[in-house]
Amino acid sequence: MLRIENLHVEYAQIPALRGVDMDINTGEIVALIGANGAGKSTTLKAISGLIKPSAGTIEFAGRSLADLVPEQLVELGIIHVPEGRRVFPRLTVEENLKVGSYALRARGGEKEARERVYTLFPRLAERRRQAGGSLSGGEQQMLAFGRAMMAKPVLLLLDEPSLGLAPILVEEVARAIDRFHDDGATILLVEQNAELALGLASRGFVIETGRIVLTDTAPNLLKNPNVWASYLGREDWEVVDERHRAPAPSS
Ligand code: ATP
Repeated sequence: MLRIENLHVEYAQIPALRGVDMDINTGEIVALIGANGAGKSTTLKAISGLIKPSAGTIEFAGRSLADLVPEQLVELGIIHVPEGRRVFPRLTVEENLKVGSYALRARGGEKEARERVYTLFPRLAERRRQAGGSLSGGEQQMLAFGRAMMAKPVLLLLDEPSLGLAPILVEEVARAIDRFHDDGATILLVEQNAELALGLASRGFVIETGRIVLTDTAPNLLKNPNVWASYLGREDWEVVDERHRAPAPSS
């Protein structure tokens, strides 16, 4: 579904991506993991058209995305939930959700879509007339997810959805990602919490200083001692639940 070849991105001539290759098949959840500054967010921004690559190709369903603007990418169903859960602070919860369905492809069935969001996140239903900016961090993340759900994503790009959330809310995020997947979305998940990401994904890519250095199935990455040493088993990570707990490496 998504094929990225030799992707280069520069910020003021300083390279952030140096030849990223990735492929994602329809219906997969794929994790992109790596240290701070490795290029994870930049990869997502390049896919959703927020930044222009200096070289390389991105194809979605066999079509080059090179000349499309973000609005056209949204019409194709490429939905980006950026880091930092950007909600419209002055709009109510319900108005924020409505914004999610502005794309032509997402119109129709808006009421049903909204009810689905409220069923998945009852706290949003309780706060439907409250301003987005008055919600807690976790609630804002739910709202950002709800808005993405309203857009009926074909390819969902999630940037650090668990960042800064209490363990119970991380569990809710994991459930929401499963729900998007059940609804048919293909998902590219960027996470510092590699344990969470690899617990949800079927495959993963490891990025270091702008290059993919490793790709494998999620279970193999969870067993890989190098991945373990660099990205897993850190004391300060909260284990969400046993489902997401990585097995200790055997060697
Ligand atoms: P994090 O986990 O910290 O969000 P990341 O893997 O998502 O990191 P990116 O945000 O993609 O990393 O950044 C990749 C590199 O590009 C970093 O060196 C970063 O400093 C640089 N960079 C990112 N955004 C900009 C920008 N707007 N201007 C200049 N440099 C940038």
